[in-house]
Amino acid sequence: MTSESVADASGKDVSPLDLSRAAFQRDLLEAGLLVDSGVSGLYGRSGAFEDIVDGIDRVVVAAGPGTAATRLRFPPVFPRSSFERTDYIASFPNLTGAVNTFTGTNREHARLLADRADGLPWDSYLEPTETVMVPAACHPAYSLYTGVLPDAGVLLDIYGFCFRHEPALDPARMQAFRMHEFVSIGDAAAARTHRASWIERGLGVLGELELDATPVIANDPFFGRAGKLLAANQREENLKTELTVRLYGDLDEGTAIVSSNNHLDHFGRTFDIETAQGEVAHSSCVGFGMERIALAMLRTHGLDVTRWPLRVRERMGL
Ligand code: ZN
Repeated sequence: MTSESVADASGKDVSPLDLSRAAFQRDLLEAGLLVDSGVSGLYGRSGAFEDIVDGIDRVVVAAGPGTAATRLRFPPVFPRSSFERTDYIASFPNLTGAVNTFTGTNREHARLLADRADGLPWDSYLEPTETVMVPAACHPAYSLYTGVLPDAGVLLDIYGFCFRHEPALDPARMQAFRMHEFVSIGDAAAARTHRASWIERGLGVLGELELDATPVIANDPFFGRAGKLLAANQREENLKTELTVRLYGDLDEGTAIVSSNNHLDHFGRTFDIETAQGEVAHSSCVGFGMERIALAMLRTHGLDVTRWPLRVRERMGL
């Protein structure tokens, strides 16, 4: 045991950061804002929590492109054929969720039930389906644009649930959460401008919510040895910026609550999207992590919304 850690009930070392995360999680559950599911990182939300998310979304939408964007909403699962084209399984196999179901015979079902009655795993009786969990809100959209884009490219407003399998104590690392994204698909300059402009605009949104956010050049947690190279490239080419807020003081580097990301021609290539000028399309997106922003609000302004600064509540329509 180091001087910086204490032992928990089971005698395991617990860092001050983990203690802080556990305390925040306990406060949120005790206040009834989140509902414990018994699975790490998976929560129900109370009406009060949803009101906060909706209030944040009003501020996000007010800063957004309005009717200039096409609004799209997708279910939390999307076609495996689209998932294949994102290459997500190459970079984030550990975060992936795929939907399986039973397609067998009565006899196989009886064997499944017998195993289940014996307390044995029954998953091996299930087969993959044609759907996969959506890992990022924009991913179901690209397949809609296979072919040639309109002259000015497209601008999308997408809001939906994402799934990433990363069970964690930190309430800010949920397995299922919402992202509100604004996505540009067009030429290289449009993708660059979109990404860059949303760093300032994202900071503006967080400023209206009176959150103390810092832009940080970031990289995705690509998996494995090849992933290290991808992460280094993403950092060096300055493709991804995260707006971070310190939920746990100096105990960590802060939590990313908004991210603005230039994918270059990745999706243009894998989804065969062309600009009107005949180039492979580039894309970029800004994603507002709705639960994370809500948690940053609760951490910054307190768990009792009625005591938040009046001007913040007014902007949120609360
Ligand atoms: Zn996106």
